[in-house]
Amino acid sequence: MAAPVVAVVGGGQLARMMAPAATALGLHLRVLVEDAVSSAAQVVVDAPVGEPGDPVALERLVSGAAVLTFEHEHVPNTLLTELGDRGIPVHPGPDALVHAQDKIVMRTRLTALGVPCPRWAAVESADGLRQFLDQATGERAAVVKTARGGYDGKGVRVVRDPAEVHDWFSAAATGTGAPLLAEELVPFTRELAVLVARRPSGEVRTWPVVESVQRDGVCAEVIAPAPHLDPATAAQAEQIGRTVAEGLGVTGVLAVEMFELPDGTLLVNELAMRPHNSGHWTIDGAVTSQFEQHLRAVLDLPLGETAAREPWSVMINVLGSQHAVLTDALPLLGPGVKVHLYGKAVRPGRKLGHVTVTGDDLESVRARARAAAATVMGVDA
Ligand code: ADP
Repeated sequence: MAAPVVAVVGGGQLARMMAPAATALGLHLRVLVEDAVSSAAQVVVDAPVGEPGDPVALERLVSGAAVLTFEHEHVPNTLLTELGDRGIPVHPGPDALVHAQDKIVMRTRLTALGVPCPRWAAVESADGLRQFLDQATGERAAVVKTARGGYDGKGVRVVRDPAEVHDWFSAAATGTGAPLLAEELVPFTRELAVLVARRPSGEVRTWPVVESVQRDGVCAEVIAPAPHLDPATAAQAEQIGRTVAEGLGVTGVLAVEMFELPDGTLLVNELAMRPHNSGHWTIDGAVTSQFEQHLRAVLDLPLGETAAREPWSVMINVLGSQHAVLTDALPLLGPGVKVHLYGKAVRPGRKLGHVTVTGDDLESVRARARAAAATVMGVDA
């Protein structure tokens, strides 16, 4: 019998990193890529070129496929609903995916589920935002986000005066931009993330809760497990992850990003319904990687064990800086460093790869990971 075809929308590094897992499981990966030299197209044999919003391209992608899944959320939901109505399994389904596509929909639903969120409001005008700012309990500031289309901090601004998002209000009013969401500026001590996998028949597994360090709105470093995390807080984070996965009917991998407050309170920031940067450590640090698990979950196969292989894993992103050819750094890396390069052209600040180091002493693991990432980037550690 032919191998099941898993159809994936999106040709970036997440689809690329699904390829080794698909190979090991004997699956046939077919990826819809934006162009023939994209990160995933370099390694996936069956990589048709097309736009995620093109019905003809999607039709070809799902032909004979066992399931349709995604490496990003930017796919028109109407097309997915049509495919689902015709009996093609779509995981995560459009009813779940909308919560990762639209931050106002996400906040509305999480609030209804009783999941703790920052104070928030959909704001339609400068006056609405001024009212929101007037209710601030601490500093008179708000975090304003475009409800759709943002990523890596693009579409997020800390605002003290509505004039600072005048351009976004204008774009929303003329229909060229997304509606706006205002949130309290959360005085968090750190950011945590819980990664969850859920299969259509209901099985749920979570990986250990991690700490993620953001720089300039981009994930820089992930430590697994989150150091010094109170066991009760860890249990609560996992429970929030399960509640979101089950409440929203998510299938596949779900990342729930959270803020931890000084008293241990958790507030949910963001959701991603696909493998996520906060889970890259699982490739080298966990029994089952998030990429293998995503494939298992969307095919409704039994989920793999999510325990860590070693006491500590530190993952550091390789961002575009000085080196034009990252592979030049390979001879310089120590034997314990696991490096993952995405085959992308170097541009300042762009996510080009990551390194992971695992071991039993956090300080030494982190130092080795930082040094390795700096070597690949060609910068001082
Ligand atoms: P994106 O969708 O672009 O990843 P996020 O909503 O995750 O945007 O926000 C990016 C970063 O901005 C977060 O990781 C966090 O550091 C900061 N941030 C977002 N929302 C808030 C908030 N309400 N209070 C404080 N910081 C925030």
